[in-house]
Amino acid sequence: MISHGPVTCDLDFNRDGLTAGNIHLDHSDDAHAATLVPVPVIVLRRGEGPTVLMTAGIHGDEYEGQIALRRLVHDLPLDELTGRLILLPAFNAPAVRAGRRCSPLDGANMNRAFPGSPGGGPTAALAGFVLEHLVPLADFVFDIHSGGASGLYHDQAFLCLAEEPRLRARGIEAAAWLGAPVTFTIPASTDYGDFDGAVLARGVPFLSSEFGGGAMVSPASLGNAVAGVRRLLHWAGVWRGDLAAPGTHYVAPAPAGKVLAPRPGLFEPAFELGATVEVDQVAGWLHDVDEPLRPPLELCFRAAGIVVNRYRPALVPAGAVLATVAAPISL
Ligand SMILES: [Zn+2]
Repeated sequence: MISHGPVTCDLDFNRDGLTAGNIHLDHSDDAHAATLVPVPVIVLRRGEGPTVLMTAGIHGDEYEGQIALRRLVHDLPLDELTGRLILLPAFNAPAVRAGRRCSPLDGANMNRAFPGSPGGGPTAALAGFVLEHLVPLADFVFDIHSGGASGLYHDQAFLCLAEEPRLRARGIEAAAWLGAPVTFTIPASTDYGDFDGAVLARGVPFLSSEFGGGAMVSPASLGNAVAGVRRLLHWAGVWRGDLAAPGTHYVAPAPAGKVLAPRPGLFEPAFELGATVEVDQVAGWLHDVDEPLRPPLELCFRAAGIVVNRYRPALVPAGAVLATVAAPISL
């Protein structure tokens, strides 16, 4: 039995074959006097070899990854595996069951809760359990996101560039094997409490990703996620397959690349996700909700590059990031 504050798990991670069960989060509140909240975990192991940990559902309203990992359990022939694959298709299971970004148990955003802590509340305890007890088993960790209810993403790898050369090189290589149209890069950091920075700080190669969004499932984005997951397993050495790295376009946030809503309104976009845009190109128009006679406010891009994400709802609050432009870089 492994335990980390209120989180326990009695699965045998070293057993050959398919092992499925739950991590349990001991939780008590008004709705649950005493509950062991289950977090599903699946282990596929065949002999000796590398270990890959794949996670989805850190944000409960992001679905492509949750489905891609569930699909993998049924589609991956165990006799083609060498080593071990650990899957958490619903990492933040309380948020997944509620269909919400954040946990209904404590309101916390799990991707701001790392490195976690056994006494820091349910989300931090669960984050800490995985970081302390599952990440050290892994030679590579891959995490799948999907924008959430209010975001839409051009399918992309999300790569935090570590300073340590081996971690950095493994991340760049993994992104090329994932083969998403773009790879969004930022410097690795532990300042934000995200899974990326926490795993890299433990010295384990890590790649994250964004496929689709809008709390729905795009068949095209799901297809990209499923194919990318298989290529990563092959690259990491746990699935023999017969695959090649498609490559990717590495980009970084462009200065002034965010198009912000200066006031609330109805946003009429003039661009598509993944489009290449120029400085001063019209991004769209913001219409006043209450005063139809007020001329719409024209908003322009202030940077050249690729539109990598956008705000999904038409009704936008002041400060909403309507679009993000990233510029090509070479690594
Ligand atoms: Zn997310």
